[in-house]
Amino acid sequence: MWFLSESWIIHPMDKTHALLSKFGFEKFKPLQQEAVEFLLSDKDVLLISPTGGGKSLVYQMASLLRDGVGIVVSPLIALMHQQVDYLRSLGVKAELLNSSLNPGEQDDLMWALRHNQVDILFLSPEKLIQPSVIGFLSYIKVSLCAVDEAHCIAQWGEGFRPEYSQLNIIKDTFPSVPVIAMTGTADAETQSLIVESLKLDTPKTLSGSFNRENIEIVISQKKQSFKQLLYFLVHEVAGESGIVYCRSRKSVETIAQNLNELGLTSRYYHSSMSNSEKENNARLFYEGIGEVMVATTAFGMGVDKSDVRFVVHMDLPTSIESYYQEIGRAGRDGNPAKAVLFYGLQDFIKLIQFENDMGGKDEEPLSIKSAKLFTFLESRGCRRKSLLENFNELIEDCGNCDRCKMMSSEHNVTVAAQKLLSLIYHTKGLVPVSTLIHILHGKLTTKVKSINGMSIGLFGKGKELTDIGWKSLIRKLLAENYLSVAGEYCTDFLLTQKSKSVLRGEVQIILNKDFHLPSMKEPKIEQEAANWIEIMKWHYKNHQTSAFSLYQLRKIAEGMPKSLASISRLTGIPITKLEGEEVHSLFKILHG
Ligand code: ADP
Ligand code: MG
Ligand code: ZN
Repeated sequence: MWFLSESWIIHPMDKTHALLSKFGFEKFKPLQQEAVEFLLSDKDVLLISPTGGGKSLVYQMASLLRDGVGIVVSPLIALMHQQVDYLRSLGVKAELLNSSLNPGEQDDLMWALRHNQVDILFLSPEKLIQPSVIGFLSYIKVSLCAVDEAHCIAQWGEGFRPEYSQLNIIKDTFPSVPVIAMTGTADAETQSLIVESLKLDTPKTLSGSFNRENIEIVISQKKQSFKQLLYFLVHEVAGESGIVYCRSRKSVETIAQNLNELGLTSRYYHSSMSNSEKENNARLFYEGIGEVMVATTAFGMGVDKSDVRFVVHMDLPTSIESYYQEIGRAGRDGNPAKAVLFYGLQDFIKLIQFENDMGGKDEEPLSIKSAKLFTFLESRGCRRKSLLENFNELIEDCGNCDRCKMMSSEHNVTVAAQKLLSLIYHTKGLVPVSTLIHILHGKLTTKVKSINGMSIGLFGKGKELTDIGWKSLIRKLLAENYLSVAGEYCTDFLLTQKSKSVLRGEVQIILNKDFHLPSMKEPKIEQEAANWIEIMKWHYKNHQTSAFSLYQLRKIAEGMPKSLASISRLTGIPITKLEGEEVHSLFKILHG
């Protein structure tokens, strides 16, 4: 074996520790050792630990400590290349089986596998399930099988990989080889799907804490979200790298283009781009400083950039789990990072509509996934607390989310809810949101007149809430199933069984005061903002040598000084201390 020829005299515990230091680590991260030891004693393992938790080390070590080749199934070729290069640099015999091998290389690999010359073999699920491949592997000695990103088994939509559902072939082919399934997130349902689908044999489930305290969670109501995004990019994360997620490919391209036009360098990424375009944009993002990546969720799995400082959701994520996973791409280095999500009533309705189109049943207007997401978004109190409840983790108020930071105020809106529900009852649910609000506000619009809204008793009786307030209330009622929508375009409202309890005053409806991230206003500010972002990028590039503090840079951005003397005046740094080359590069940014 590769690491210790005299391994037979060493106690297994010492073996794992000796091997750990070969990898250059001093101690195990949580769960790593337990997982390795289960695999060494032939147990199947389901390992759930957050991104950055060090899951790869588990199959790497266990493969080396067991006899035979470790087979690792991973969804992304680029990730596998990275792993192979890394392992080879440590002297591990790692190989990748993929279609880019020429026949000669493929023969060499087959030979090496047959002669026990490979420690770890990486391949994609597509490759593994090919009859010729699995057939060949069934004749060689396999130490273990690892399935990385195992949540793909239960994933639909953009990241869906049908081959993942055929991985039961592993147990069928290697019934006595331990299998480890790894993922960054999996709720109870997904866990059992993984176990079932892979036919794991009473697996040991290990799951680590999901609390990523360094990520600030901000959930904001949408109000011209592009301008809110600009505000955020300029005022909160200027010059830093991050990801902006959108649901549609079209909005990905539009937002990236609009940002670029404003001088904020951004890339984009979605599944209909060519592979070379995708790779190129991902590489630019990885290598760059202050890059904004606008993407669908096609971008993300295995994002291995440790200094992603922010993740923005312009649209609703597909589930709590994907939300958690997506925001988890920020702050992998453990330094402070921000996660911002924008949404509004329209997003709720769009999602319900989308699910209806996908063949949802009328009595169940929402899938469990979306219902959980809505509940999370409309929940009271600390955001992180509500988020982690979904992973069965109980924490105290976090102090690092919009709710904790704003000391957000709640108000009892039961009476308003009763008014709204009765109005919906009166109008048979056929009146659109805007008109309902006009009636409550007592506004005589054409539409209100056309349905004779003035004659309804509630006309003008709902001035206690603003337009936005009413919309928040509707969201809340939808999220908690006190109200639902129907009709081909989900434009009709339906009272539910639960509506009655509100109308009868049996339950209280408590609303959190909405939080809106401010939005950027004048295009002129946008130019200044672009300058500021450039200056910040310059700062992150030069911060080790830079003479300027953030405060001084702010002064420079505002004053746009044209000479050394004016920089000196603005910053208070004596001219003699202003280093030539550095200041020159800063001038270039200011004045092109
Ligand atoms: P995951 O797959 O769980 O997201 P990775 O396997 O990619 O995480 O590991 C994340 C980082 O943690 C890597 O840079 C890896 O080198 C590092 N790492 C893994 N195990 C340890 C350890 N025991 N001590 C320190 N760093 C570790
Ligand atoms: Mg991983
Ligand atoms: Zn909190």
